[in-house]
Amino acid sequence: MLEVNDNDMKLDECGELSAKWGYAPSEDGSAYHLDLCHDCFKFALSTLRDKRRSLAIVNKEIDLPGEDFGRIGGHAPKSK
Ligand SMILES: [Zn+2]
Repeated sequence: MLEVNDNDMKLDECGELSAKWGYAPSEDGSAYHLDLCHDCFKFALSTLRDKRRSLAIVNKEIDLPGEDFGRIGGHAPKSK
């Protein structure tokens, strides 16, 4: 378990990023777990959304991600 910044160490609610890789060539058996505060989670989410966006630009079969990228419940964020 690892925290990204000081906020992450004292959370009642937190985001999580974890992985357990099997035999991917560079990751043989490695596992990861990060506990993320809201800021860090949003940073990770926006980075992944940018990645998805860059894929969508070159591949028309991929939908451009919206503000609700990754969201599976709750209310959509209010646009600024
Ligand atoms: Zn954080």
